[in-house]
Amino acid sequence: MVEKITSSQQAIEMEDHYGAHNYHPLPVVIAKGEGAYVWDVEGKKYFDFLSAYSAVNQGHCHPKIIKALCDQAQTITLTSRAFYNDCLGPYEKFVTAYFGYDKVLPMNTGAEGDETALKLARRWGVVKKGIPNDKAMIICCDGNFHGRTITVISMSSDPDSYANYGPLTPGFIRIPYNDLNALEKVLEEHGKNIAGFLVEPIQGEAGVYVPEEGYLKKSYELCKKHNVLFIADEVQTGIGRTGKMLACDHENVRPDILILGKALSGGVLPVSAVLADDDIMLCIKPGEHGSTFGGFPLACKVAIAALEVIKEEKMMENAERLGKIFREYMQNIKSNMIAKVRGKGLLNAVVIRPKNGKEAWDVCLKMRDMGLLAKPTHGDIIRFAPPLVITEKELLEACEIIKKAIISFE
Ligand SMILES: *Cc1c(COP(=O)(O)O)cnc(C)c1O
Repeated sequence: MVEKITSSQQAIEMEDHYGAHNYHPLPVVIAKGEGAYVWDVEGKKYFDFLSAYSAVNQGHCHPKIIKALCDQAQTITLTSRAFYNDCLGPYEKFVTAYFGYDKVLPMNTGAEGDETALKLARRWGVVKKGIPNDKAMIICCDGNFHGRTITVISMSSDPDSYANYGPLTPGFIRIPYNDLNALEKVLEEHGKNIAGFLVEPIQGEAGVYVPEEGYLKKSYELCKKHNVLFIADEVQTGIGRTGKMLACDHENVRPDILILGKALSGGVLPVSAVLADDDIMLCIKPGEHGSTFGGFPLACKVAIAALEVIKEEKMMENAERLGKIFREYMQNIKSNMIAKVRGKGLLNAVVIRPKNGKEAWDVCLKMRDMGLLAKPTHGDIIRFAPPLVITEKELLEACEIIKKAIISFE
């Protein structure tokens, strides 16, 4: 018989005892969610200011997405790609029109999306650009986060991600983020053998690093000059989070390869996608890449609903407007614990300066006690990313909680 959870403490102890210790969660046990709110086992209500790392942009248990899930779950869930199914084609047509690409390759997790993009870029490099096989290089950035597979962590500059997992995958050149000179230099030196430049338009996991205005546009142009694919990992920044559909839209850059995940399903299922035009996408032929679940009927129906509600409910516009209000509010809090406020749309971070031995983790515990959930990253940075369905009134209420929590350490 499966034990029933009746207290948060019991759930925490069970995870600690039976689960691998690969996470360090804030001590709170969520049992329910709706819109911008979650509830713990004891019934206490919280603002969710993480949104499952921006997977729940559309709000918890969005009724339209959940309906799509339930309807399809009773019809057919999985066929594999050994056969056609009646959901994939309509989804592919919908999602390519939605983002403006010839083709989509459906996968499940973000890391798989990145892996797919890397394979696609290397293949294009060999087949179309004429790079000798085994010589195609990909440029990536310091501070990147693209997921947890061996190849993906081979790009990482964070020892927590890559240390003692070797041998790592070769073929990457890492350069500083937000540094056009470094990109230009490496393209001039090795451009012939470089297939792609993989970049997050805003580095989310690194702590919401927003590059200088023009960085994306100029990087794109440098890539074009050297016949290198510009590959945008918008797994966290995409789908309305930063106030536009894609973070690249802020600079009118259209990536050659676009990677989406997380909010593509509104946090309902692992659904990721790689989008590109025919010239690139058709470099992969039948049998040369795939996934048992990629493009499964449930995912197709859920993703269509998740993308529809973003536009129907004007979530991008809401993110753009409320993001400005949020940053202004944070900047006006009188506390020397606030070292920096940065972000775009509703993807924001506050850098916490420790005070009397109290740091970002303590601020998060205090906010939890006061009814708001957020998580520190890299020790001193707190990311604030509520679901995009949050209203102005709710946002101001949440800002008040954050302010009171920080002021309490004065
Ligand atoms: C979360 C994330 C990933 C990895 O997604 P998973 O679904 O956890 O594999 C990749 N890239 C970025 C930018 C992310 O934020």
